[in-house]
Amino acid sequence: MHLHWETLAEGVHRCRLPFLDVTVGVVRGDRRTLLIDCGTTLSEAARIADDVVELTGAAVTDLVMTHHHFDHILGSAGFGTAVLYSPAAVARALTTGIDAVRAHALQYGTDPERLDRAIAGVRAPDHVVTVANLDLGGRSVHLELPGPGHTDHDLVVVVPPIGADETPVVFCGDLVEESAEPAINAESDLSAWPLALDRLLELGGDDARYVPGHGAVVDAGFVRAQRDWLAARRES
Ligand SMILES: [Zn+2]
Repeated sequence: MHLHWETLAEGVHRCRLPFLDVTVGVVRGDRRTLLIDCGTTLSEAARIADDVVELTGAAVTDLVMTHHHFDHILGSAGFGTAVLYSPAAVARALTTGIDAVRAHALQYGTDPERLDRAIAGVRAPDHVVTVANLDLGGRSVHLELPGPGHTDHDLVVVVPPIGADETPVVFCGDLVEESAEPAINAESDLSAWPLALDRLLELGGDDARYVPGHGAVVDAGFVRAQRDWLAARRES
């Protein structure tokens, strides 16, 4: 195993990539295996792909990209046969907007050669998503845009429980961060972000495990506190 994976429910796992501590999630069904976000480079993608086979016994068939930041999307070049799902803004970022993605990645210290190898392999997503349910075989996931926040298109992935002893798992993208304060930048919508977290809490409920885009898995209380922190910043 190349990376350290945590198991959140049966067939539901996540790891934190060493570069930028970005979360990658896996949801294994009987027929399909879904990856959530994919890192920045082909070498990260190759490690993820190997580990998913070792972890689940199956290769990645589907990939959801949560938002257009490079560390969540450029590794998609390493999953050539997977069906790709993303918001429309990610489709633009991977095609006409790729120069801006490249510049952003360089700002954050991505190795230029590795970056260009990844960029050479990216392609437009197969499905542009606003809301969808994917049936993976014995396990389904719900994709939704809960509203603007970190960006104007943060897609979240909700994994409902399949047994009485399971709790929902919510992959939050960068709408929630644990290892640092939420990343508020020029494209963030601070006035709407608390409302997006209200919707996230509605989707997951009080018992869910919430998986941030960066940092440790948190509970509903943490998400609520981050919502209040954002709301206070909006008012100050
Ligand atoms: Zn981001």
